[in-house]
Amino acid sequence: MRAPTIAIDGPAGSGKSTVASSLAAALGLRHIDTGAMYRALTLKALNMGVPVQGRELLAQLAAETEITLEDGKVTLDGKDVTADIRSPEVDATVSAVAAHAGVRKVMVALQRELAKGGAVVEGRDIGTVVLPDADLKIFLTASPEERARRRHAEHVTRSGAQLDEVEKDIKERDALDTGREVSPLKPAEDAITIDSTGVPANEVVAAIMALLPSGREQ
Ligand code: C5P
Repeated sequence: MRAPTIAIDGPAGSGKSTVASSLAAALGLRHIDTGAMYRALTLKALNMGVPVQGRELLAQLAAETEITLEDGKVTLDGKDVTADIRSPEVDATVSAVAAHAGVRKVMVALQRELAKGGAVVEGRDIGTVVLPDADLKIFLTASPEERARRRHAEHVTRSGAQLDEVEKDIKERDALDTGREVSPLKPAEDAITIDSTGVPANEVVAAIMALLPSGREQ
């Protein structure tokens, strides 16, 4: 049987990464974190001093950049950047970089290529733009307070950021991602919305597995 493609979209801190990676492991599928791809390009732009408003320069940079995702490891032009792409600087600029149509065109083509043969793909526009024919589309949400708490718990170990700073960052990013003209964050018409507020990740994964078309659970 053909391996399924599963789209998981949602705002920052909704639990997408944890859920998508556990689901992929349970189903023996690849996990594609498309946010990591936009983050890697943003890191390169920051390192090279390319301004985040530089529409054409950024699209050209995207076309000349090699990004790989393998078993949770992210490489940028051959270098492991798994930790570096989670810096506060990248957090603060990634949404501006991802808003450019030229950048998205390059990333979407790569994401479609990676998803061939079945995958769990997480992002903001997977169900709407990248994989409109996905076998299952999930829109994962959680209350703003819970999303801020989750991101803060991840951040403290890295950067010592305060809860209110993290809350401000995710609010700003959500506003930019939802309000942008190209591929805004929104549920696909045929997506199933799951609110993960107060729900452990393993229960969310089990709920998604139960939604898979029959015969696709193994
Ligand atoms: O998922 P994560 O929070 O790491 O994504 C970082 C940023 O990348 C998002 O805030 C959004 O601006 C961008 N992104 C996107 N489209 C995707 C995935 C991420 O625009 N499919």
